[in-house]
Amino acid sequence: MQSKNQQAVMTSTPSCRSIFLSRDFVPQSKRIQAFEIHRATHFGMCFGVRDALALAEKSSQEGDVTILGELVHNEVVRKRLRKAGAAEGDLFGEKAETREVLVTAHGASDFQKERWAQKGHLVTDATCPLVKKAHTALATLVAEGCFPVVIGKAGHVEVRGLTGDFPKAEVVLSEDDIKALPPQRLFGVVSQTTQPSARVHELVELIRRHHPTSEVRFRDTVCQPTKNRQRALHDLARQVDLVIVVGGSNSNNSRQLAETARKLGCRAHRIATAADIDPRWLEDAGKVGVTAGTSTLGTCVDQVIARLETLGGKVAE
Ligand code: SF4
Repeated sequence: MQSKNQQAVMTSTPSCRSIFLSRDFVPQSKRIQAFEIHRATHFGMCFGVRDALALAEKSSQEGDVTILGELVHNEVVRKRLRKAGAAEGDLFGEKAETREVLVTAHGASDFQKERWAQKGHLVTDATCPLVKKAHTALATLVAEGCFPVVIGKAGHVEVRGLTGDFPKAEVVLSEDDIKALPPQRLFGVVSQTTQPSARVHELVELIRRHHPTSEVRFRDTVCQPTKNRQRALHDLARQVDLVIVVGGSNSNNSRQLAETARKLGCRAHRIATAADIDPRWLEDAGKVGVTAGTSTLGTCVDQVIARLETLGGKVAE
C-alpha cells in the first residue's frame, strides 16, 4: 500500500516539483509541518539588470561580444549568457578577443570606457541609468568644489566605476573609515546604488559629527528598486519566522537583504538556487518569507517557491 507521501509523489505533476520530490521525500514521522509561504511585495530582477541582460543577449546574437566583468552577480544569468555565446572579460584587464566589448549594468568610469575605445574596441554601454545618475551626481559635486566621498564597498565594480575618474575620492563603509577621512572644507557624498538606505543616512550623519567644521553635501543615490526591496523586506520580516533570499553569493544586494532580515530578528538564508534549500530550516517555521536580489531571474524564484511547496508550503493569498 502506498503511504501518503508516495501518493503525493505520484500525483504531483508540475515539472519544478518533480525535480525535487524524490530527494525531499521524508518518512511520515519526520515530515515538516505545513507552513505558509509569503512573497515580498517587491523582489527580484530590477529593470536595470533586465535591460542590460537583454542588450547583452541581443549583442551576442548579432556577433561576438565580450562582457567586461559579470553582467550581474548571478551564476544562473552568467551561464545563460555563456550559452548564448557571450565571452566574459575583465573591465580592468588589457585585452579582449572580440571587437565589441560590453560595459555591465554596474557601469565604468569614463577613463575605462575611453581606454577600451582607444584599443580599437566598439564599446556597448549597458550601464543602468540609475548608476549613471550616481556618476552625474558625483561629477556635479566635484564641479562644485567638493571632496568626493562614496559610501560603498571598496573594490566593488560599481564603486570602482564611480571613483575611477576621481583619483582622490575616498570610499567609506564604517565609522573608522569616516574618522580617517582627510579634513576638508566641503565633502560631496554619494552612495553605491545598492547600499541599505538607512545605513547610508547614518553614515552621512557620522561624517557630519566627525567633521563638524566641514560642509557635507549629500546626494541620495541608493536606487529606487533597492529601496523598494529593502522596504518590502522590513514588512516581510515582521510577518515570518524565516526569510529565504534568492541571489548569487557575490551579489551585494542579496547579501544585504539577508543581513537586514537577521538584524530585524528573523532567521535568514541566502541561496543561489532551489537546490540549496535545506529542509531542516523549515522544521519549526510556520511562515516562510521569500525575496530575491536585483540580479535574480524570476524563474529562480519560481523554482524556490515550487520546492517549498513540495516541502509542505502553501503560498499565502
Ligand atoms: S540595482 Fe538599481 S542601480 Fe543596480 S541595476 Fe538595478 S536599478 Fe540599476
